Amino acid sequence: MADDFCPLTPEEQVIVLITPAVFRQAQSLIAFCEHCDSENAEFLFDHILDRITGCDPMRTEYILEVPAICPNCRREVFEKTLVVPISFEQDNGDL
Ligand SMILES: [Zn+2]
Repeated sequence: MADDFCPLTPEEQVIVLITPAVFRQAQSLIAFCEHCDSENAEFLFDHILDRITGCDPMRTEYILEVPAICPNCRREVFEKTLVVPISFEQDNGDL
């Protein structure tokens, strides 16, 4: 469904520029970040982007033009920031 975002070529690292639409969707899935919930923050923000874009987590790197903002503490969230996603356990990878 979201293949447009992911120009995969075999065996290669893929760099994906996050579009504003994906960015907004990803940011809306952040519940807490490592700054305000370090105990439970165990997902990289990257993983949320993987879910939305459908890209291969093993070889995809994302480029954020601006950091996302944690809705709880308002700190900046980068690609490698650990977050607690909203209701991750309720979806089956079918975002
Ligand atoms: Zn936070």
